[in-house]
Amino acid sequence: MKIISYNTNTDESQSFRKIAEEKEVDFLTTSQPLNIRTVRFAEGCDAITDSGLNENYTEALFKKLQDMGIKYISLRTTGYDGIDLNLFREYGIKLANVPSYSPSAIAEFAVTLSMMLLRRMQEFIVRGKAGNFVRTGMMGREMNQMTVGVIGTGAIGIAAAKLFKSFGAQVIAYDAYPRDGVSNILEYKKSAADVFKEADLISLHVPLLPDTKGMVNAEAIAEMKDGVLIVNTARGGVVNDSALLEALTSGKVAGAAIDVYDFDFNHDYSGKAVKDSKLQRYLGLPNVIITPHTAYNTDTAVENMVRISTENLLDFMLTGKSKNDVTAK
Ligand code: NAD
Repeated sequence: MKIISYNTNTDESQSFRKIAEEKEVDFLTTSQPLNIRTVRFAEGCDAITDSGLNENYTEALFKKLQDMGIKYISLRTTGYDGIDLNLFREYGIKLANVPSYSPSAIAEFAVTLSMMLLRRMQEFIVRGKAGNFVRTGMMGREMNQMTVGVIGTGAIGIAAAKLFKSFGAQVIAYDAYPRDGVSNILEYKKSAADVFKEADLISLHVPLLPDTKGMVNAEAIAEMKDGVLIVNTARGGVVNDSALLEALTSGKVAGAAIDVYDFDFNHDYSGKAVKDSKLQRYLGLPNVIITPHTAYNTDTAVENMVRISTENLLDFMLTGKSKNDVTAK
């Protein structure tokens, strides 16, 4: 069985080698995106695995895939927003995704960022490298004294809540669909606003949907405790950046950690101006930690992405079905 992987990152190479041996599959890998120009690389392959943005999934591409006899595409990611599933149905091509690859990876990262904010770690690192070892005025706070507000208690939110709890924090949460059997970990509140009012630290774990877009806005921030900390490993759009920047500048919000922001992060901009005025303002604030959408990026998660997407394709090819078929839903 021969599978071509588009948008392949060098960090995935080891996982591809491992899964190739484990599943007896031949992989052809390219760092290029799948599009009408690169589709010819798939000649002679049985199926495609892809990752990243999929704005190139056009009708012309589907015509070509159909001519080449390619019937299956498996994403190595969870999200498939923006993909026209009708095109898949129309051209008889099935699409699968990886619904969950390692909730712990993101949860551990959210807790790491939280601990860094509480102990002002970024500020100490920056100062220390410049030779400033003064600790006066740099007092930290303890997680075990915190009320942590978790917004969204899906796979990642619950994993994060367990970790916060294990540090001794009191965990309160809001979810549009609260789950049963978690009262030993957290206390559900009736609304996000109720969580915002009581939490010392807010960790966001909701998907970006019309009703979560900008949920952390000026009005919500005004209701929060003075000196609250905000950690966003969910999606950039959940936070209104202008409101957060203002609150960080005024001190209403004491610190923020942002792993997700609408910016093409995967480049080295050292020595160059970052052409995004809000990101520039964030970068200028000592109490803000910016990371490049890397919460998921662990050896375990990457291997799971490659493994599960390969299993999806093998299931499609051997049985015509996959439990992660998004075109069938
Ligand atoms: P999930 O689907 O398991 O959980 C999402 C939860 O949000 C569900 O419990 C759902 O009921 C809840 N929810 C939906 N709408 C809501 C609303 N309006 N108010 C409150 N709760 C609401 O998803 P997950 O796997 O836990 O992932 C959560 C999010 O984390 C993803 O959607 C994605 O945006 C983000 N994520 C980030 C990274 C990263 O590397 N930073 C990686 C993976 C996922």
